[in-house]
Amino acid sequence: MQTDTSTPSILTVPSWRQQFPWLWHGFSTRAGGVSAAYSSHVRPCDLNLGMTAEDDPVRVRENRQRLAEQASGSRMTPLLLIRQVHSGASVILRRDQPLWSEAPRADGSLTDQPGILLAVQTADCIPVLVADVEQRVVAAFHAGWRGTVQRIVEQGVATMRAELGSKPQHLVAAIGPGIGPCCYAVGNDLVAQFAEHFSDSAQLFRATTDGALSLDLVEANRRQLLSAGINLEQIVALGGCTCCQPERFFSYRGQHGKTGRMMSVIGIAASGALTAV
Ligand SMILES: [Zn+2]
Repeated sequence: MQTDTSTPSILTVPSWRQQFPWLWHGFSTRAGGVSAAYSSHVRPCDLNLGMTAEDDPVRVRENRQRLAEQASGSRMTPLLLIRQVHSGASVILRRDQPLWSEAPRADGSLTDQPGILLAVQTADCIPVLVADVEQRVVAAFHAGWRGTVQRIVEQGVATMRAELGSKPQHLVAAIGPGIGPCCYAVGNDLVAQFAEHFSDSAQLFRATTDGALSLDLVEANRRQLLSAGINLEQIVALGGCTCCQPERFFSYRGQHGKTGRMMSVIGIAASGALTAV
C-alpha cells in the first residue's frame, strides 16, 4: 500500500486552538492519506474519507482513523456520521445517549457528549462547524445549495438554542472550504429558488464572464449564522475553492463526479484529554 507518510493536513481555526483547547475540530484536505483511487502524478495518494464506489474500504478506514487522531489525539475516537440527504434537518445526540449504530438521515448533527467527533462529508458543498464555548455543545452542518435554501445552518443553530440551551453570545462558527463563486455557475431555476427564500438573494450571485450567474454559498451561510444571532466577529471563513484547487481538495464538479470526500469534524475533548497537535 503506497502511503503518504505525512500526517493529515487538516485546517483548523488558530484562535479556537488557543482559546478553547478542549474543542476538537478540523477540516480535512487531500493530504496525508493512503487512498490511490483518485491519485495523479501530482498526488500519488489521498486522504479520501468517503466510502465511495472507487475506493478500497480498508484504505478509507485507515484515512478516517488518521483524521480522528489528528483532530482528537486518538485513532479510536468515534466519528459520528450522518446520512446526508441535502435536507434542512439536524439530529441531536444527547450526553447520556448511546452512539447511533445506523447513521440517521440528516444534514446536521449536534451534541453535548464528550469524546466523539461529529462528522460531515463534502466535495464542493460547504461544511460549517459551530460551538457553544460556554456550555460545551458542538454542531456540524453540510450545506450544499439545497440545504442552504432550506436554511440548514440557521435552523440548526435555532435547535442548539431551543433544545440544548445555547445562548448566541457564546457561539463561535467556522465555515470550511467549498466551491467558490469563481467556479459555481448556476442556472435560472436555482436563482429563482434563492429569490424565494432569501430577501437579499441578489447579493449572493455574481455575473460570470459568459453572462451566467454564479452563487456564493459561503456568503449565504455566513448570513444564516448572523441571522441565527452569532456575532460577526465570532464567524470565521477559512477560504479555499474546492473546484479550482484540485491539488488541495476533492471537487464533485471539478472532477466530474468521480472524486473522494473531505470530512469536517468537531467534538468536545473527553475528560482529562488534551487537544491534538
Ligand atoms: Zn474556484
